[in-house]
Amino acid sequence: MLRLILLGAPGSGKGTQADRIKESYQAIKISSGDLLREEIRKKSDLGLQAKQFMDKGELLPDALMIGILEKITQDFEKRGQSYILDGFPRTLPQAEALMEMMKKQGVSPSSVILIDVPEDELLRRLSSRWTCKNCSATWSYPEGKADNVVCKQCAGELYQRDDDKKETILNRMEVYRKNTEPLIRFFEEKGLLKRVQGLGDPDSITVRIYEILENI
Ligand code: ADP
Repeated sequence: MLRLILLGAPGSGKGTQADRIKESYQAIKISSGDLLREEIRKKSDLGLQAKQFMDKGELLPDALMIGILEKITQDFEKRGQSYILDGFPRTLPQAEALMEMMKKQGVSPSSVILIDVPEDELLRRLSSRWTCKNCSATWSYPEGKADNVVCKQCAGELYQRDDDKKETILNRMEVYRKNTEPLIRFFEEKGLLKRVQGLGDPDSITVRIYEILENI
């Protein structure tokens, strides 16, 4: 059973890579961001609460996120369902809670893969990113999207995420540096961290990830 954690800054390509590798491992991608955006769409209590944080590029409270993710991963564990975490853990307390929970179940992450991308490239990617309303795939249109352009994967409507605006992007980068970078050290000290160079075409990055996964 695969229990993979993907780490990387906003725009590093975690979600895209998770989508590519999940099939080969019969794994389910758990994207905390997609999950919250779905709650916003449904206008649930959680969604209304989440939107206030997300629009500013702030993180949701740890206790809330830990509660949600614990339930999902425990359920997968019971069913022997492989999973890929994308967007969780994002803070040290979240990582500690996840490790604690896994320990109780006598398991540990298969691997923690960090997708490394320089910051100027991240800014460029996020500001030209368009997301599919239907399947959450993302596409890049640096000069803005033409009216008739739809998702190349499912023909769904494309939109620009509220938090992919310039000021919010800068704040998300700051939040990443402050909260998420310490996780790199945390997993490194546990001997779980593997780095993957995240520049270049998506296919070659997928190949690098497969190489790591084949060796575990
Ligand atoms: P990205 O990685 O592109 O920043 P995500 O889609 O993963 O975007 O997350 C979008 C937003 O959802 C975050 O900026 C944050 O507000 C919220 N969020 C997602 N995952 C978490 C988490 N694990 N802890 C706290 N907030 C989260």
